[in-house]
Amino acid sequence: MKCDKCYNAAIIHQKYSGMHLCKRHFEKDVERKVKGTIRKYKLIERGDIIAFALSGGKDSTVVLHIIHSLFKDLPGIQLIAISVDEGIYGYTEKTLETAKQVCKKLNIRHEIVSFEDQFGLTLDQMAILGERAPCTYCGVFRRVILNRTAKALGATKLATGHCLDDEAQTVLMNLLRGDMERLIRLMPAKKPGLVPRIKPLRNVPEKEVALYALLKELPVLFDACPYAHLSLRAEIRDMLNVFEVKHPSTKYSLMKSFDILIKSLKKEMEEVGLQRCEICGEPTMGNMCQACKLLKIIESRR
Ligand code: SF4
Ligand SMILES: [Zn+2]
Ligand SMILES: [Zn+2]
Repeated sequence: MKCDKCYNAAIIHQKYSGMHLCKRHFEKDVERKVKGTIRKYKLIERGDIIAFALSGGKDSTVVLHIIHSLFKDLPGIQLIAISVDEGIYGYTEKTLETAKQVCKKLNIRHEIVSFEDQFGLTLDQMAILGERAPCTYCGVFRRVILNRTAKALGATKLATGHCLDDEAQTVLMNLLRGDMERLIRLMPAKKPGLVPRIKPLRNVPEKEVALYALLKELPVLFDACPYAHLSLRAEIRDMLNVFEVKHPSTKYSLMKSFDILIKSLKKEMEEVGLQRCEICGEPTMGNMCQACKLLKIIESRR
């Protein structure tokens, strides 16, 4: 099959768009989607210090690679990478090693911050002591570490590798849980104490992120986290993938609905005020942040 934009052989068929694309046009298409997202949501401005949450996986590596290639020559934009050492036996060592290679290749400052240093426990220990799925602790504590570290580094934006699949899964998960507060929090917003998060891959399907990483020969770890299968997200991911095969464009449609829904929820979003956690001082909706609540429960079981 030929590429729909030139005479070269196609390497991918995008069922949702109907297009067949060759290597060059596929890479351009991914980069076009990223540029479009940056423009549409005004994600990057002159003077930004962008901290990247770099896990060593394909998504965060691809986003760092594309933003680096787009902005590296632009004066006034600084890029820094932050990796979190969660302490997952047999896994974290590999992710950190890959993240180090990426930063070395791109010549980017790299900070590594661990759960153990920040909270006194590794994720493996939390998983044994706690009652919740490991991903719950991981998500909450990683968010705190990333925000704290980005703030300490003077970052004006915190970029994550969330792609279309991650975002669609989060939207559906929060809808199924009836958690409108978390749904609202998905929208980029300026909140005191929180470094604004940006998600330039929001419009790129996960399979295309993986293919882009392979074609560009980026140093990426494709191993799955040993805890991944225990999460609700894994069930939602499988369900959405089945839907996507049967009804191409399901994930884009879900995000389109979210974008429309969020406009009418915007007023409520502005009313969700943040306070400081009475224990750690991080921004939170109540008196105590989720991380401190979880830590208290874990400590009581030690
Ligand atoms: S799968 Fe869960 S535990 Fe593993 S890195 Fe992701 S959020 Fe953390
Ligand atoms: Zn082509
Ligand atoms: Zn706290």
